[in-house]
Amino acid sequence: MTLGMRGPYYLNPETVDREVRGKTPGNYAIGYCKDNGAFVVRYVGRSDSDLNSKLKSHEADMSTRFKWRPADSAKSAFDFECKNFHDFGGYDHLENEYHPEPPSGMSWTCPFCHELD
Ligand SMILES: [Zn+2]
Repeated sequence: MTLGMRGPYYLNPETVDREVRGKTPGNYAIGYCKDNGAFVVRYVGRSDSDLNSKLKSHEADMSTRFKWRPADSAKSAFDFECKNFHDFGGYDHLENEYHPEPPSGMSWTCPFCHELD
């Protein structure tokens, strides 16, 4: 299972500004690295318009890392977040408290939920 994202990078404002330039929709994962370098995903998310600001709003300490990818559109970011959420174990394994939600006013549904039945 892979995230299909760039990184991992340290989660701090300087690094976010260097790696995520301008305002773009996109996806991200937050986690940490094991001693062997493996990235462990703890949370997956997205921003529909400004990934840079969203990443900076997360609490982080010295061990916190992130990965990210730009998205063509908010719809693309939503579908990819759903995929990440299910690929990495959903509620059972991630710190996400809720299934990804579409932007307000949108009726998009998760393309992957049916696979759980
Ligand atoms: Zn789902």
